[in-house]
Amino acid sequence: MTEKRIPLAGVIGNPIEHSKSPALHTHWLKTLGIRGHYIPMRIEREDLESVLRSLHKAGFVGVNVTIPHKELVLEIADIVTDRAALIGAANTLIFRKDGKIHADNTDGFGFIENLRQGAPGWNPVAGPAAVLGAGGAARAVIASLLEVGVQEIRLANRTRSRAESLRADFGSKITVVDWVQAGNMLDGATTVVNTTSLGMVGKKEMRVPLDALMSGAVVTDLVYTPLITPFLKTAAEMGCITVDGMGMLLHQATPGFKRWFGARPSVDDAARKAVLDQ
Ligand code: NAP
Repeated sequence: MTEKRIPLAGVIGNPIEHSKSPALHTHWLKTLGIRGHYIPMRIEREDLESVLRSLHKAGFVGVNVTIPHKELVLEIADIVTDRAALIGAANTLIFRKDGKIHADNTDGFGFIENLRQGAPGWNPVAGPAAVLGAGGAARAVIASLLEVGVQEIRLANRTRSRAESLRADFGSKITVVDWVQAGNMLDGATTVVNTTSLGMVGKKEMRVPLDALMSGAVVTDLVYTPLITPFLKTAAEMGCITVDGMGMLLHQATPGFKRWFGARPSVDDAARKAVLDQ
């Protein structure tokens, strides 16, 4: 009798040493009593395809993908979900039994689940959303906001052409606002999202004037180091409902874990602690 193979998963990027995913998945494996491992792997761009094509033979059931490989994996994958194709990047791969690689993007799912958990009364159709930043993460945020029914998204980015290109991809519900006018677009917005890296430890501070923020608006920041960014702190002082970015990181990881290891993990204080203690 052959023993059942221990499932392996991991995260691929370069660099990868900073990744919080191993601490999170290892915590879930332990909590759920699953025999499995989750391993960080630093892979060079030129080796990406050959590594991905061979991992399933070593017992891997899938991997997460992070910077700088999130776009390139779409060209390698055999099956790409609609949302990954729309976003133009994948963060979750499933290695199917027939050897095919299935690519998905769960960042938008994580973003929405985090808002639902952190601001239970959040109503995406209550009013316009204002999004700061038009980088890779913004694409997932915008796709998911549209998916849950947001009717108007005001978008400002330092480099205006990047915001214009998102408008071209996502359509007329997006209104592009000049970066210098970003403070004005907060007026009347019921959902406000920072997708820039401003406010992150080691990065510049956010200088966007926040006095137009509406009390009661749901405000979230994708930056989670520090957990409470100056942007979130000011928003809370102005009576907004604030949601930190750590929950997005935790929630985006759940679909992959479920597919690979067969159990749905909990996004709770223990999971947060496992990541924060890393
Ligand atoms: P990215 O593609 O490099 O985009 C960076 C964004 O920040 C762009 O909009 C960029 O504007 C803006 N930016 C950078 N420096 C700026 C400055 N000095 N002034 C004004 N704008 C500036 O990065 P990303 O992948 O979208 O990630 C953005 C942030 O979200 C990062 O902090 C990342 O850690 C975080 N994130 C968090 C989660 C989570 O699970 N919580 C998930 C994904 C990402 P330009 O286009 O003008 O350069």
